[in-house]
Parts: sequence; C-alpha cells; structure tokens
Amino acid sequence: MKIGFIGLGNMGAPMAANLATAGHEVVGFDVIAPCPGGVTSASNAVDVCEGAEVVITMLPNGQILRDVAREIIPAMSPGTGFVDCSTVDVESARAVAEQAEQARLLPVDAPVSGGVGGAAAGTLTFMAGGSAEAFAKAQPSFEIMGQKAVHCGGSGNGQAAKICNNMILGITMIGTCEAFALADKLGLDRQAMFDVVSTSSGYSWTMNAYCPAPGIGPQSPADNGYQPGFAADLMLKDLRLSQQAAEAVDADTPMGNAAAKLYAQFVEHEDGAGRDFSAMLPRFEARGRGG
Ligand code: NAD
Repeated sequence: MKIGFIGLGNMGAPMAANLATAGHEVVGFDVIAPCPGGVTSASNAVDVCEGAEVVITMLPNGQILRDVAREIIPAMSPGTGFVDCSTVDVESARAVAEQAEQARLLPVDAPVSGGVGGAAAGTLTFMAGGSAEAFAKAQPSFEIMGQKAVHCGGSGNGQAAKICNNMILGITMIGTCEAFALADKLGLDRQAMFDVVSTSSGYSWTMNAYCPAPGIGPQSPADNGYQPGFAADLMLKDLRLSQQAAEAVDADTPMGNAAAKLYAQFVEHEDGAGRDFSAMLPRFEARGRGG
C-alpha cells in the first residue's frame, strides 16, 4: 500500500518508520523534521498525497491540521483514507472530516495513547472517530502502528475519547500526588502508602503503574528525575482541550477545570515545563496550604 505521512516529529517519525518496516511504500513530509530511514521524502504536503491510498497526519494542533487539510484534500482521490492521529480540538476534527467527506474521502480522527515509547514499539492505542468504511480503511495501518484500535463512533469521537481519558488522568495524577504529600507530612511511609492504596479503593493507573514517588512501585519517570514520559506541557494541552470542549457543549467539569489551572501554573509559572506530569509530587512536597 502507498501511504502518505505528514508530520514527522517525536511521534510521527517512528510511526512512519514502522509502516515502512512492515513493507508499505511510505512517502513523508515535515516542515522541519527529516524523514526517518525507509521513508521517501516529498518536498511538500501535496506531493505526499499523489497515488496514496491512505494519508496520515501527526501534527501539533487543530489550526495546523485545518491548514494542512485545506491544502491536501483537493490533492487526494475519492476513496482515499485520511487518518489524523494528532490530538486536536473536537471542533477542528469535525470540520476537517466534513470537508474530507465532501471530497468523498474517508476521514478518521484517531488520536493515540502510548507516547513516544508506544510509537517506537508499535504498541499505540488508537481512539477512532469516523464511518465504519473509513475505520476499515485505516485499520491495516493501525495494526502496524499500534496494538489496539477502538472505534468510538462518528467523526470527532476519537478526540472526545482522548480528552475525556486524559482529563481523568490529569485529575487522578494530581490526587495521587497531593495524597503522597499529605502522607509525608502525617509521617506515613511512602512504601506503606503505596502498599495500602495500590490494593485499596484509592488505586489507579497513576498510583499502580506510574507511581509519582521515586523508588516506589514499578519503574516510572519519577525514578529518572521526572524526565518525560508524558510531559506536563502535553497534559496541559489536553486539559485545555477538555475545557474548550466542555465550554462548547456546556458540560460542568469543575475538577477538569481545576486540573487545567494547576498544570497551567506548574508549566507556565513554576518549573514544570519539560518535566514529566508526575513531577506534581515534588511541587506539592515543597508547599504548604498557603503556597
Ligand atoms: P512534535 O512537535 O514532535 O511533531 C509535530 C511535527 O509536525 C513537527 O515535526 C513539525 O515540524 C511538524 N509540522 C508542523 N506544521 C507542519 C506542517 N504544516 N506540515 C508538515 N509538518 C508540520 O509533536 P509530537 O510529540 O510528535 O506530537 C504530535 C501530536 O501527537 C500532537 O498533537 C500531540 O499532542 C500528540 N501526542 C503526543 C504524544 C507524545 O508523547 N509526544 C502522545 C500522544 C499524543
């Protein structure tokens, strides 16, 4: 299959490389990043689409997706799959899908979970929104780039699933970190705290699989000086997308709103930029109730 790939950054490059390794003819384009080995470089986004059965995008945000989509949709033949794996706002995903459908393309919004490690290992999870036909068209590439693809319904629903999941993740990480900081001040040993919570009703992925306390639980970014992992900056992006979506549909999300504000403070006014999102723990550790 000939596959076009636009956006070859931290995530896109290993995803495109895996498609090429699996034997597909992959043509790629990025405004800055070089093509990974095995991927043929095109000089612009339109050339990527020539003869492609599926075009995949992995871009920073919704505005860039809209700009790229406007450029490439006229260059794609009817029946081509247009798979956007970026994390973007639901509105942009739905607007782009509508334009693509008008051009008789098969659009899917398919944001991922699994991070750079999952992209390199080909073990991403895809959350996909689009028609059954469009999902089926994208499925063979999902199978190479990931280990699971969930069809979440119509256009935009992949993005909806992603931001709802990450809103829970951000809220839960904050809860886990503030509980560790409270336990410290109460004189409760961190290992004892982990042993209790990880097997009690407070358990969660953030406690059990990605524990923010160094030396406790399975290996996590906390054991590596809070090098990401999943950067606090990306968590902030996803929390803001969740609040943008909540505003658009008048959903009451007070905890999501609080989490977005806390990560904004951490990333933009403290030392959170470039650190893993679990570095909220040393932040809480160093503070009292008054800040
Ligand atoms: P990145 O910044 O490393 O890569 C984005 C790439 O897009 C860059 O190389 C950039 O040059 C390129 N680009 C920008 N404008 C372009 C254009 N007009 N045409 C072609 N290329 C263009 O970001 P990333 O970490 O690879 O993330 C990509 C997407 O995946 C984001 O939406 C992000 O939120 C999402 N995501 C990232 C992670 C992660 O752990 N990094 C995890 C899940 C989802």
